[in-house]
Amino acid sequence: MTHTAPQPSSEKTEGRHGRPRWSARDRGLQEHPVRIAILGVGYAGTTAAISLSQVPGLHVELFDAASELREIGASIGIQPCALRCLEKLGLGQEVDALAYRHGEYPLLLVKHAEEKAGPVRLLKRVAAVKSSVEGVRVRFEDGTEWSGDMVIGSDGIRSPTRASFYPDYKIGRGVSVTLRGVFPTSVLEDAGIQLPPEPCHWPGPDRSLFTSPLKPGLFTLVAFVPTRLIPGADIVGWGAATEVTDLASVFKGWYPPLAKLCAVAPPLKIYPDWNGPTLPSLTVGGRVALLGDAGHCHGGAFAAGGTLAIEDGYTLGLCVDEVAQRAALEGRPMEGNDIATALSLFDKCRLRHVNRLVAAAHSLRDRRAQKDNHVASEAEINAYVTTHADVAWLADNDAEAVFDQVVANELLAKAVDESLGRDTGTAEV
Ligand SMILES: Cc1cc2nc3c(=O)[nH]c(=O)nc-3n(C[C@H](O)[C@H](O)[C@H](O)COP(=O)(O)OP(=O)(O)OC[C@H]3O[C@@H](n4cnc5c(N)ncnc54)[C@H](O)[C@@H]3O)c2cc1C
Repeated sequence: MTHTAPQPSSEKTEGRHGRPRWSARDRGLQEHPVRIAILGVGYAGTTAAISLSQVPGLHVELFDAASELREIGASIGIQPCALRCLEKLGLGQEVDALAYRHGEYPLLLVKHAEEKAGPVRLLKRVAAVKSSVEGVRVRFEDGTEWSGDMVIGSDGIRSPTRASFYPDYKIGRGVSVTLRGVFPTSVLEDAGIQLPPEPCHWPGPDRSLFTSPLKPGLFTLVAFVPTRLIPGADIVGWGAATEVTDLASVFKGWYPPLAKLCAVAPPLKIYPDWNGPTLPSLTVGGRVALLGDAGHCHGGAFAAGGTLAIEDGYTLGLCVDEVAQRAALEGRPMEGNDIATALSLFDKCRLRHVNRLVAAAHSLRDRRAQKDNHVASEAEINAYVTTHADVAWLADNDAEAVFDQVVANELLAKAVDESLGRDTGTAEV
């Protein structure tokens, strides 16, 4: 990157925690903004775009392989920790208005991302990404290229960005599949089925159900079922939905309203629980960040993929903002080393957390593989309750507090190094 000479002035605006923030003009960045490509505009990419829009001096572009962006017709639960991130990004009221209308979150995020970063460039399917000290280059399948300073690989579970740097990374099928359907509440009314008006999880020995009203007039039924019980489930692709007609036999003998719902519900769609190993880092070469499913594949376990993706996007914005402010305080524009520092901060904030979840998902998968459908005794239930993976830490996570802690730790380490006369380098704090 080349920049015009910075022209610091005393004019400041207030940044996070009341810290001073220089405007892009003050930092002399307006001529050569830091160029960032966001590849894939799901939860991770859109949240990153919104979060990065709070950092001056960046030029963010959005790309997606899809021909149009629309609801896929499934419900999704977003946990409080991610809702807090959206609230901090100023989306609180709109998110509140979408309670029980989970399918609409992605479109809300796309709308805000486009307002901040311009329209998503559709039909831009990433083929490969290359990173070097000079910058990063993206090749699309249509033969066009993009080059710039930083790439956010938020291109989902089969991420070509990840494949560019981890060619041996393989995702595999879990031992269970998730079956999902969204249909009119009249299906329940017509069959005289009464279920609680709140979202409910109904656990069984080796399978479970989730029921919830969505927006007015719509209802969702989700079934978590061993793959072996659903013919063909071991060969369909994730997202390549297949229809299941015999749900009633899978839940025969269950609580009568649920058994009846399984009998009358329109065919559900299959989503196999793909999952993959942990990555050693969520960043590559100080230029590329892997966010959301691209950085951590854990199947449908704990209904956490969207939640983690939102936290990833939010946190990346904080990290870039931090280094931008440090550069501004030094009266200079952001440079390549600053991007590397931001990505290093991001890794420290997120890697341990997301890999902890992937590990918990693997252990859940292994336990599910051993389960059968016998009705557990009281002792077995007690043993399960005391030994099963407790993932309260997932919903309780405070992404901003983690970020603040990581920054504080780094500043402390730097101060110690300096007091001992050690060289602290430039890429890291
Ligand atoms: C039916 C269903 C229900 C789910 N329920 C829950 C739930 O209740 N709670 C929860 O937290 N999670 C849930 N998940 C998981 C959650 O949806 C994902 O973890 C989450 O969407 C990941 O977000 P992301 O931004 O990483 O990827 P995605 O949302 O998958 O977005 C990736 C984007 O990249 C684009 N893309 C893909 N390939 C390319 C390419 N080559 N070039 C350019 N762009 C590309 C895609 O078009 C897409 O827009 C569910 C998933 C499914 C399918």
